[in-house]
Amino acid sequence: MADPSPAGDDVGGAAGERIGIFGGTFDPVHVGHLVAATWARDALALDRVLLVVANDPWQKTGRRRVTPAAERLAVVRAAVAGVRGLEPSAMEIDRGGPSYTIDTVRQLARRHPGAELFVVVGTDVAAELDTWHDAEELAGLVRLVVVGRGGLDEGVGPPGWRVEHLRIPALEVSSSELRRRLAAGQSVEFLIPAPAILCIERLGLYAGGEMRNATTGRR
Ligand code: ATP
Repeated sequence: MADPSPAGDDVGGAAGERIGIFGGTFDPVHVGHLVAATWARDALALDRVLLVVANDPWQKTGRRRVTPAAERLAVVRAAVAGVRGLEPSAMEIDRGGPSYTIDTVRQLARRHPGAELFVVVGTDVAAELDTWHDAEELAGLVRLVVVGRGGLDEGVGPPGWRVEHLRIPALEVSSSELRRRLAAGQSVEFLIPAPAILCIERLGLYAGGEMRNATTGRR
């Protein structure tokens, strides 16, 4: 059954379409993610970049509490509203269970026959690709876009993948750091887009009720 797709997962699309798949926990989404996505969009002439919110990020669950997927998706949706070519995707949430990129890619390949698929990752994630499910099959289905992050060697790509290296402005920001700041009631202004901060506040995420309202300054 086709999903109603408020999240950019529509069936069809033009043959030869260039689709970026940028997966993450996005707990919460931040400027580092958004610059990576927009620079990949422009550098590789992607028609769209799907920010695919992991349902159950198997590398992270068990190590810490992960915010419910629907709430992480709501914040991503607020962050990219009106941004050309950036679309939140609920594919992995709709599928349920642990989130494997290979399943997402297979699904997209079925929905968009003839499209060219690009998986966008930071250098930290690129270094771990051999731990991904069915990595060999995945390498044959997509081109990999590795965006510079944290000074790891950008010249070397994982063997067996078609790799594009993309230099982006170094933004040393992480969701972990932002969760800590939010929990401490510290500002995340400019590190998270304002509409997404409002969404975080509205949903009462990360702060344990202690977050300072970014607009009003009240707690
Ligand atoms: P956490 O701190 O909770 O581990 P994170 O900030 O690394 O989270 P993820 O949602 O795990 O964010 O990352 C999704 C993707 O975005 C990964 O490919 C990651 O490498 C990339 N990414 C995250 N932060 C940045 C950044 N500051 N610059 C470039 N890419 C980034």
